[in-house]
Amino acid sequence: MTTDSAYERFCSLVDAAAADAGITDTGLIARIKRPERIHTVAIPLRRDDGRQEIYTGYRVQHSSARGPYKGGIRYHPQVDLDEVMALAGWMTIKTAVVDIPMGGGKGGIIVDPHNLSPRELESLTRGYMDLIWHDIGPQLDVPAPDVNTNSQTMDWLADEFARLTKTDAPAVVTGKSLAHGGSAGRDTATAQGGFDVLDAALTAAGQSFAGKKVAIQGFGNAGSNAAQLLEHAGAIVVAASDSSATLVAAAGLPIQRLADHKAAGMSFASLAEFTRLDPGAALFEPVDILVPAALEGQLTAENAGRVKARWVLELANGPTTSEADEILAAAGVTVLPDILANAGGVVVSYFEWVQNLNGERWTRPEVEARLAVTMRRAYDAVAELAARRGHGLRQAAYVIALQRLIDAMAGHKLKARRAAKSSAKAAAP
Ligand code: GLU
Repeated sequence: MTTDSAYERFCSLVDAAAADAGITDTGLIARIKRPERIHTVAIPLRRDDGRQEIYTGYRVQHSSARGPYKGGIRYHPQVDLDEVMALAGWMTIKTAVVDIPMGGGKGGIIVDPHNLSPRELESLTRGYMDLIWHDIGPQLDVPAPDVNTNSQTMDWLADEFARLTKTDAPAVVTGKSLAHGGSAGRDTATAQGGFDVLDAALTAAGQSFAGKKVAIQGFGNAGSNAAQLLEHAGAIVVAASDSSATLVAAAGLPIQRLADHKAAGMSFASLAEFTRLDPGAALFEPVDILVPAALEGQLTAENAGRVKARWVLELANGPTTSEADEILAAAGVTVLPDILANAGGVVVSYFEWVQNLNGERWTRPEVEARLAVTMRRAYDAVAELAARRGHGLRQAAYVIALQRLIDAMAGHKLKARRAAKSSAKAAAP
């Protein structure tokens, strides 16, 4: 049984890749694992009934070696610092795998947003920015949506930053609504990027989406959009879950209806006309493609042996533990790893940032075409290395990312030293 925390898992993955890549500088590896900065904040919130509450929030700034810290903010009762540290580290690896000029960071607030009114949610979001804005900025740290946050959350954050800094800097946050400087295609980007990667992998194996059976765990932004894309490509989504139930239908679930039901704030458990299983059942349905699109640590040593899929597309961050990874590999299951498979979100976030900085607006087809090129290039490099070295895609992706990160860190140190020297000179009498 595994007791590894998410951050320990991130560290082991880095260690394994470093050993594989022949990186022996233990000081360097220690630097890569540790976040550069951690901010913990206490956010006051006046509830609608007049009570005063305080919520704990985090922003972990993991690495700025390749560019500004980049990563989402999640609202969830199970957020803790260890988890946010892992998620921030995974962002550093992810931005390096897809080779965009950004670093890694992550934020979170310990809260169940479903228990807050819209006014309370806005107040909490602005309160979070009020406490971190000194450490955020278009060239410093660029937040985005994650679990239980969306374009409305990002609009509030951007607006609060503008109010506090008296500047109009939409590039401070990505994943905004179109009306507030968001990018076309950002809403569907995580699923679209995952689709592109799976398409490349299936094509390389001489297969197609037609008739493939799919199970999706989690029906938030990533899961619901993936369901739509896969159905459109000819696959059959026979199982889908949220935190209340798994719905199954051998002939295929009505995806649009399920998405509308969720958008109206209702859960799958209330859909009595479908066969309903427990929420975890989606992972073990007899399908070709399994899409974990919920939280981390879902496929474990205890349950990975029950997975029947041939392909696992990790749209969630960290859904598979190391032991589960080994079990799946031994069973011949191809796992398309999170740091590649779900990178479409941050890639289009980067596109949004570029558009904001340059005063440009790209169309959805332009965004999707650029995303496909980026994802395909990343997949090809990872698949090529995995085939050459004879190991899994996850390990190959980490090796590529580590090498890019280390190259940038060398330059980073020089840059920092040069800056220190010139400021010392300027300060000299
Ligand atoms: N939350 C997403 C992720 O985990 C997107 C991050 C971003 O767009 O910066 O990759």
